[in-house]
Amino acid sequence: MAETELVLTPQQAEPQGAGQASGPQAVPPEFSALYDHVVTCSKCGFCQPVCPIFRATGREAHVARGKLALFRNLVEGRSPLVPELKEAYANCLLCRACTEACFSAVKTDKVVVTFRHQYGERFGRGFLQRQVFRRLLPRPRLMRSIVRSLWALRRTGLPDLARRLGLIRLLNPKLERAMELSRGVPGPLLTSRLATRPLPIVSAPLPRVGYWVSCGYNYALPEVGEATVSVLETLGYQVEILDNCCCGLAAYGYGDLEAASHLAQENLRRLEDLDRLEAVVTECGSCSGHLKEYGALLKEDPLWRDRAAALSEKTRSFSEFVMERGGLGALLTFAEESGPPGEETPAPTVVTYHEPCHLGRRYQNIVEQPRAILRSLPGIAFREAAEADSCCGLAGTYGVLHPQTSAAIAQRKMSFFKTTGARVIATECPACMMQLAWGAQQSEAELDVVNVSQLCAQALKSRVSK
Ligand code: SF4
Ligand code: SF4
Repeated sequence: MAETELVLTPQQAEPQGAGQASGPQAVPPEFSALYDHVVTCSKCGFCQPVCPIFRATGREAHVARGKLALFRNLVEGRSPLVPELKEAYANCLLCRACTEACFSAVKTDKVVVTFRHQYGERFGRGFLQRQVFRRLLPRPRLMRSIVRSLWALRRTGLPDLARRLGLIRLLNPKLERAMELSRGVPGPLLTSRLATRPLPIVSAPLPRVGYWVSCGYNYALPEVGEATVSVLETLGYQVEILDNCCCGLAAYGYGDLEAASHLAQENLRRLEDLDRLEAVVTECGSCSGHLKEYGALLKEDPLWRDRAAALSEKTRSFSEFVMERGGLGALLTFAEESGPPGEETPAPTVVTYHEPCHLGRRYQNIVEQPRAILRSLPGIAFREAAEADSCCGLAGTYGVLHPQTSAAIAQRKMSFFKTTGARVIATECPACMMQLAWGAQQSEAELDVVNVSQLCAQALKSRVSK
């Protein structure tokens, strides 16, 4: 089954045939459309041991089988769409581990997004959610101003003092969790840093790639984006910093398909004709995964579908792009050969890897590339961890809205990372980086969390300094 078929479009989700859905108990057509697929669930339970949430809570409503049974009840008219059902569908990371383990390959993530969309249509969406997805995220300049103000407030130390005194928890425990995830105040945003970076001096025109600015790196981890751009430039590309807004994955995950489509259209408008670029590169697995779905998301929109498909086609995750272009081998060989003679080789740093859901085997299938890069870097001993491809438990805002379950998932991951003896966890997604850093800190593990691109930049820098 093609990946793109897993993405819902607003047209698919739109109620068709108003007569069918006019009564309070009428089954929404978007539910009925999934019925034949949902009934292929044989109730075998193979999805239980792989579901990170079920492993943490043990609740049947939290695993694919339970959600599918509830969904079937809805379509068969045995249960109405009521607010009590929301909890079961809110408890999903959209990680697709269940689909991978399922003989029928039931697309539970699609069922969950469909439910969330229809739930929002029926009961409305929260004011804050609507403002963020529909008014704020399509306006990156406004978004940057707000984030700068928030960081300025944080720099006063007052919010962290309030957190240490327990006042934030009293106010809202979810806010406390959000503050814990973004511990350091990053200084200038990535977009500001990249705008003032010294440009490489070149004697001839270089192939041009677009660097997609992910929200996570821009607002919270700007040093990662700087590293990525420096690697792309060292590899011999002219890097154009794209003027994109949020990719829209969060809106899609919430089931706000209209906002997700609007964000996709806004990005296509901002990026203009893509012919000038060899590729659009990002070190955020969630962004690259979602950009590759734009073609499917807008396939029924005659105005945008061709450009959406073109962007999907051009999109590359960082490690995918680096390996496609031959890896870092040629550049790094020089570093290994040019070490001072007789110098004692330092013990290699043991590095392990966390595979982000949207990057890895269940979405983009970028599995070997980051591992191959890590194995190729000098001074690094790569060790695979158990369940490296299992979700870290953050999944957008899931970790903030369900702090206990998310913490249990992170702790399980940490226990596996610790047994590798690694000092560093490499990954390729800002949300995963924040969650794993939080997990390491909570479990008092001496583990640094970095992006694969940062390790590449470090290795290339040592080549230049030799
Ligand atoms: S593994 Fe698939 S078929 Fe088996 S219970 Fe889970 S969703 Fe149903
Ligand atoms: S997508 Fe992930 S979190 Fe959701 S039910 Fe499947 S395994 Fe569980």
